[in-house]
Amino acid sequence: MNQSPRLLVILDVDSTLIEQEVIELLADCAGKRAEVEAVTERAMSGELDFTASLKARVSHLKGLPESVIAETLAKCTVTTGAHKLIEAVQAKGGKVGAVSGGFSQLLDPLAVTLNLDFHRANQLEVVDGILTGDVIGTIIDKPAKATALRQWAIESNIDLKHTVAIGDGANDLDMMNVAGLSIGFNAKPRVRAAADVILASNDLSEAIGLLGL
Ligand SMILES: [Mg+2]
Repeated sequence: MNQSPRLLVILDVDSTLIEQEVIELLADCAGKRAEVEAVTERAMSGELDFTASLKARVSHLKGLPESVIAETLAKCTVTTGAHKLIEAVQAKGGKVGAVSGGFSQLLDPLAVTLNLDFHRANQLEVVDGILTGDVIGTIIDKPAKATALRQWAIESNIDLKHTVAIGDGANDLDMMNVAGLSIGFNAKPRVRAAADVILASNDLSEAIGLLGL
C-alpha cells in the first residue's frame, strides 16, 4: 500500500487561525479603531503597500502599556476546527506552521498552545514596558510569508508539491502561489479568485477530508 505523503500546512493567523484581527483589538485599547481601519482601507485600495500600512497602523499604538498585549491575547479565540486540523496533519507525520503579518508577542504563546512546528510574525517594539509605535526586525509581508513556507519545507524535507497554504487575505497570495495546494478560508475576493479550493464553512477541520487525512 502506498503511504500518503507527509504534508506541510502553513496557516495565516488573523481571520484564519484565530477569529479576530489583532491590530484592530490593539487599536481599540488605544481608542484608535477608526484611524486604524482607515489605514486598512487605504491598503486594500492599493494606496499603501503592506509595510507602509503596517507601520502606519502600529504608529497608532504608541504609548500603550505592554499589558495590552496580554489583554488582547485573552480576547482572541482559536478558530473552530484548528486544533483538529493541526492534530490530523501531525498524526500523519506532517508539520504545521503559522506565519503572520501580525505580531510575535501574540503568536508565540498561541504557537505553544496549538503545538505548532513553526511560526513567524512581526515584533512590536517595547521599551520600558511601553509600546513605541514601531516594529523591529524583518517585516513579515506578502513575500516574506512565501519565504517562510519555502524555508520550512526545506527544513522539514517536504517537497513544495506537498505543501498547503491556508489564508483569507491579499497578504497570503504569494505563499498560496508557492504552495502545492492553496485553500481560501474566510476568503476575501482576491483570495477567492486565486485559491485552488475555498472552504465553505468557518470550520478549519473541513480541510482534513480535503487533504485526505
Ligand atoms: Mg488574515
